Amino acid sequence: MKVHHIAENNSILNKFIAEIRDVSIQKDSLRFRRNIERIGEILSYELSQQLSFHSKTTTTPLGNKKASFIKDELVIASVLRAGLPLHQGILNYFDDAENAFISAYRNHPNNDADFEIVVEYFAAPSLDHKTVLLADPMLATGQSLVAVYEALKKHGTPKQIHIVAVIGAKEGIDFIKKHFPENTHLWIATIDDALNSKGYIVPGLGDAGDLAFGPKL
Ligand code: URA
Repeated sequence: MKVHHIAENNSILNKFIAEIRDVSIQKDSLRFRRNIERIGEILSYELSQQLSFHSKTTTTPLGNKKASFIKDELVIASVLRAGLPLHQGILNYFDDAENAFISAYRNHPNNDADFEIVVEYFAAPSLDHKTVLLADPMLATGQSLVAVYEALKKHGTPKQIHIVAVIGAKEGIDFIKKHFPENTHLWIATIDDALNSKGYIVPGLGDAGDLAFGPKL
């Protein structure tokens, strides 16, 4: 897997990351969602440089000019519900893409820190020979991404997978490296060192789903 750690080079991205982490700015859920969306747009621009292009002639009012267009058939696949603002950011740039949605949540059967990932809702087109952009904002343990990948495989064999994430933990990145095909790319805004005992990224930002859409029972 090729890991692209985008915040390593300073850019406007780093301001958006700082804002989604900041407890006082987080209170504004509209801003939180929009910042995740903006990060999705930046990561989309970055990953677009790895896609295949073909050239076609476009006609202006004054003449013709050769232009490059994306050749890959893209499917944006997002993990509900935290993935929705990131999905929107990616779709803002790849507006011709098909879309897939998968629900994955942590079930704590013994009410302790141990959890299993339950994948339930699944709506996707055929993925055969397509380029899948798999969006999950928080790459913590990596278990939900791997569970989602196992479910996606039942809908065909993609040509390539690009994982798009906002904050990741080193442990989770090492875990997914073992489970995704060699030619997978990970486009990650920023990487934190640790996970806490509940599998949350530290310092991370808290619960991305709750911050975007409100707390759940
Ligand atoms: N999901 C989140 O929303 N935050 C984390 O830190 C880990 C998983």
